[in-house]
Amino acid sequence: MTTEAVIDMLPVSVKNPAEVVATLRKNFYSNKTKSLKFRKTQLKNLIKFFEDNEDELCEALYKDLRKPKTESILCEIQFTLNEVKNLLWNLDEYAKTEYPEKGMVNMLDGVEIHKDPYGVVLVIGSWNYPLNIALNPMAGAIAAGNCVVLKPSEKAPATAELIAKLLPNYLNTDCYQVLCGGVPETTEILKQKFDYIFYTGSTAVGKIIYEAAHKHLTPVTLELGGKSPVYIDNTADMEIAAKRILWGKCVNAGQTCVAPDYILCTKEVQEKFLIYAEQAIKEFFGNSVKASPDFARIINDYHFNRLVRLLKDAKIAIGGHTDPTDRFICPTIVIDVLPGEPLMQEEIFGPILPIVNVTNVQDAIRFINEGEKPLALYIFSKNSKDTKLILDNTSSGGAAVNDVILHIAVESLPFGGVGSSGIGSYHGKQSFDTFVHKKSVLKKNFATVPEKIQALKYPPYTSKKLMLMQNAIEKRKGLSLSFLPQLLFFLLGIVLTVGAYFLWLYINHDGIFKSD
Ligand code: NAD
Repeated sequence: MTTEAVIDMLPVSVKNPAEVVATLRKNFYSNKTKSLKFRKTQLKNLIKFFEDNEDELCEALYKDLRKPKTESILCEIQFTLNEVKNLLWNLDEYAKTEYPEKGMVNMLDGVEIHKDPYGVVLVIGSWNYPLNIALNPMAGAIAAGNCVVLKPSEKAPATAELIAKLLPNYLNTDCYQVLCGGVPETTEILKQKFDYIFYTGSTAVGKIIYEAAHKHLTPVTLELGGKSPVYIDNTADMEIAAKRILWGKCVNAGQTCVAPDYILCTKEVQEKFLIYAEQAIKEFFGNSVKASPDFARIINDYHFNRLVRLLKDAKIAIGGHTDPTDRFICPTIVIDVLPGEPLMQEEIFGPILPIVNVTNVQDAIRFINEGEKPLALYIFSKNSKDTKLILDNTSSGGAAVNDVILHIAVESLPFGGVGSSGIGSYHGKQSFDTFVHKKSVLKKNFATVPEKIQALKYPPYTSKKLMLMQNAIEKRKGLSLSFLPQLLFFLLGIVLTVGAYFLWLYINHDGIFKSD
């Protein structure tokens, strides 16, 4: 079945985006999604969705990308499941009202931060991790109490179709809807007014999404891509470095947003790296990568041809074999690459790894800073001074030292880009925080004394009132009233102890219970 045929079967044609958004907005204002119990039920159902359908989901991912089952389970299903469980288990904590520190002026007032869901959220997913990237942000939006329209990527049609078919069996359809389709349908969806848009995909389309959002002043998270560099120096353990880098370049056939895009190293380091890289590929996939069940394929002909074009005139040190019949591209390392070459002009997003030679760490920093800010940056070195130098003098969405990709799997680290690699972040608690507006609330009462103090602000203004007000509101270093409750408890403790002591004295010496 062709991609177009599958898309035709998807439910977009029967769902009008304007009607869907209007219904979800109405249901949002019914306050259904604001109940923590309701949100927890939906998150539990999402967990069940993964547990009940693991085999079918793996099959769909195999159809779309020939994704190996291990990668489907670890990078798509288990990864998202863990995120959903984290949201479920911590929801009470994440959602509770915060009572931040307050100053002298507000000593008698309530000062609170409320976690308000935005309303109707649009989540647009990309094809490379079509399950994870659709449902992981959606779980954050659900946990935060929003209604959600999910638009999975049409370029992974089997997965999109399965999500559209199965999800309504698990999630409340009054509040969560899946709309499928390609560019025309997404364009139509984007005409609607959403309260938040969460987009994952290329930087070029990210700009289109940003433009559509700005018409309604809709806040966005843009999870985009870019060229993530790897710097290797001669102190690195080259065997381990080669294995880790090659794994990162081969998982999902290099179609990973945080895949190492290119290497920066000296010629001397390059020679050593190539020896171990060749060994690593053999160890991973045996004598024929093509025959290995553990290596995915390129998503479609457009991307296959784009990657083959990038190899034209390239100086290939390892690999280079391609096969259009099943969109296979062998892990390929290209050397003597110059900054102006096509390979260095766009995110590669495939199993091709160019090496650009630099003379030293300063040269590498200069090279990185001449490009757009990457989504990830990797350093392989035992030299902590140079590692710090790179981290302190470059800007990237995230970074890992002596490994690749895995920083995004640390739940306590927010994941997102900077500059052209994205706006905003998610994962862990940040997935909840992304989808709530932190509403500042000040609560006062009508008591006489505070009103007398406040009356200073009312006209007619006088210099005496001004002086008193300035004294009251002037910021003073280290002056905070956050210790007040502890101080009161402490004082109360002293009063009670002293009181008990005197009572004891009274009773034992000349108290009323002593008879003469
Ligand atoms: P894609 O083609 O699936 O597009 C993403 C979404 O945008 C799809 O749902 C698609 O329907 C929609 N879209 C495409 N063109 C559109 C248009 N003109 N108007 C409106 N909507 C449109 O995916 P892609 O863009 O090829 O994704 C690959 C890119 O995504 C890479 O650059 C990769 O680095 C990046 N990515 C980033 C992350 C991250 O978390 N930062 C994760 C995965 C992928």
